[in-house]
Amino acid sequence: MEATKFKDLEISPRILLGPGPSMVPARVLSALSMPVTGHLDPEFLALMQEVQELLRYTFQTENELTVPVSGTGSAGMEAALCNLIEPGDRVLIAIMGYFGERLYEIAGRYGAQVDRLERPWGQVFEPDEIKAALDKKDYKLLALVHGETSTGVLQTGIADIAAAAHQNGTLVVLDTVATLSGVPVEVDAWDVDVVFSGSQKNISAPPGLAPLTVSPRAREVLRNRSTPVGNWYLDLSLLEKYWGKERTYHHTAPVNMNYALREALRLIAEEGLQARFERHRTNGEMLWAGLEEIDIPMLIPSEYRLPVLTTALVPSGVDALEVRKRLMADYNLEIAGGFGPLQGKIWRIGLMGYSSRPEHVLLLLAALREILSKR
Ligand SMILES: *Cc1c(COP(=O)(O)O)cnc(C)c1O
Repeated sequence: MEATKFKDLEISPRILLGPGPSMVPARVLSALSMPVTGHLDPEFLALMQEVQELLRYTFQTENELTVPVSGTGSAGMEAALCNLIEPGDRVLIAIMGYFGERLYEIAGRYGAQVDRLERPWGQVFEPDEIKAALDKKDYKLLALVHGETSTGVLQTGIADIAAAAHQNGTLVVLDTVATLSGVPVEVDAWDVDVVFSGSQKNISAPPGLAPLTVSPRAREVLRNRSTPVGNWYLDLSLLEKYWGKERTYHHTAPVNMNYALREALRLIAEEGLQARFERHRTNGEMLWAGLEEIDIPMLIPSEYRLPVLTTALVPSGVDALEVRKRLMADYNLEIAGGFGPLQGKIWRIGLMGYSSRPEHVLLLLAALREILSKR
């Protein structure tokens, strides 16, 4: 092995304006490089409690069972579903894009009888539509996406939907991977049961942890399961013993990722949730106005447009991928393309967490103006 073949690691500090990961503040990166401790070290145990407290603040909940699941947002998704579902359970998934499809895919793998309620990509559900579907059968749970990153829509009316679900004895699972700490997510006020997110979107820590919170109502359902959870690693009955008083070993916590998450959450608390939501909205609106000025229309009407992830229509005759390549090569700037039915038709522009800054909006607009004028 010729070891000199491997050079010192050098990673370019990109301007990340895609659907995640977002840019990570220096304070978070520096927390990441603190010494590794044992996962039962008293200092780490104290840090775990702080992470939980900060997560409750961010989720706007008093839920005791609030933890960062080891793994990315999809691990949170899998944890929510595998813990609630027992083989044969009836489950309703509201699907309006790629991540709704993923919920559907995962629910089926745990043996649920899964029904789909669908909307074409780019639309949202009317709460009444979901209510009507919930009335048709006895569903154990309803799962849906709050901010659908594949299309750029924000599902509104979550509190109404949750109230209707609970009237039918149905639990609500909500994917807030793209929304938590970027747009309001009020777990207790909306009375949603299992809510999960990801560390690398609006929270602006590296990818690798999935914040998750469980209502007392859902915990009761977990306690009364008649079969063991189909996924050992994500079994909350085992995880809660490590994150609760017993401190029983289950798997080694990714300790440094928890340092990073703590620092990212501390930054959220310092900024304040309301100010943070306003910042994301203001920068989103600035982007929308600027795109309209250069004749790039938005895919989604403003009433349910996601301020943290804008889907912009690629003007006719423009090669979407070519523009993205130019943005990266000339401006060091990353945005994403569309996929599925929106492939080649849209750009997906994220203004998430630390990436959501006016100077990034101005740079992207100037870059697009220059690139598109030179065609
Ligand atoms: C990114 C994302 C996920 C998946 O998260 P990973 O961290 O990529 O596993 C799930 N749902 C939504 C809405 C997302 O935006």
